[in-house]
Amino acid sequence: MSLLELTNVSKEFSVGGTTTVYALDDVSLTVNAGETLAVIGESGSGKSTLGRLALRLIEPTRGSVHFQGTDMLALPAAGLRQLRAKAQIIFQEPFESLNPRMRVADIVGEPLAIHQPKTPAADRRSRVARVIDQVGLAPEMARRFPGELSGGQQQRVGIARAIVTEPSLIVLDEPTSSLDLSVRAQILQLLADLQTELGMGYLFISHDIHTVRYVSDRIAVMYRGRVVETGPSERVFADPQHPYTRALLAAALPVDPDQELPPARLVGDPVSPTEKVSGCVLYGRCPVGEDRCVQNEVRLTRFDADRAVACIKPGAPGS
Ligand code: ADP
Ligand code: MG
Repeated sequence: MSLLELTNVSKEFSVGGTTTVYALDDVSLTVNAGETLAVIGESGSGKSTLGRLALRLIEPTRGSVHFQGTDMLALPAAGLRQLRAKAQIIFQEPFESLNPRMRVADIVGEPLAIHQPKTPAADRRSRVARVIDQVGLAPEMARRFPGELSGGQQQRVGIARAIVTEPSLIVLDEPTSSLDLSVRAQILQLLADLQTELGMGYLFISHDIHTVRYVSDRIAVMYRGRVVETGPSERVFADPQHPYTRALLAAALPVDPDQELPPARLVGDPVSPTEKVSGCVLYGRCPVGEDRCVQNEVRLTRFDADRAVACIKPGAPGS
């Protein structure tokens, strides 16, 4: 049983009553206990929508979400509250996600107060102190307000708050994107250490390949609301099959002379998120696209034992 399982999930936002934004289109993915699934894609590809749906912070238009085998969408409010202790989220902007009028100790302790109200206050305090130490903050930070901390320290508080209830899943929505490079590396190391120590599964959202490269076990590449390629990270990086993945890697990484396929380059503009697409979402930008890419449904299809690609000719040499 997977820790998190999204099955055929779609999300459409209605804007102004007349326009529909196709934010997620038929996405299926799993996160297993203790592993990191990286969700990568450019801005607007649907990553945050996916992360919020995974925790039922928003409801899907279609599809199902299971957490540890429980149908999240069928849960009544009380059940959902309980589950929230086990599935947490860390946001990109630590300062905006921390209450500026609360002290660090109270911010970190709040989930305990909500989820374990019967735990004696002294036990909660010692748990908070332990978690503050675990994320590498000095004990005296507990009395500070978020505005008195650096960006890296604020994100450590966000992490402490997320792990205090001992969750089994954390959705990390661009957790290091707002941080300086040097701090970014420290936070990534902290997240990796905590995962080893506590065995949590991570759904790690990022637009930056460099960030996820070394922290992810598997990767799901998103484009325009769809997963276009998924598989073990090492293999996707070494031998990307979807023209979009290849273009993304070619733009971000030095060309690897051992790579079997030449990098693909994208042309033109992405299709509007308000346009319903049944064929390939990359059509029009794809260097190897053909008429049949729009005439037929193009969906994620098994490529080999543990990889899948949404392309009718995966690996076709591009220009
Ligand atoms: P990402 O996190 O990859 O940048 P998002 O999930 O935030 O992408 O957005 C996916 C698409 O859905 C975008 O086109 C975005 O404008 C749209 N979108 C997200 N949230 C809303 C909303 N509440 N109302 C309308 N459109 C939205
Ligand atoms: Mg986002």
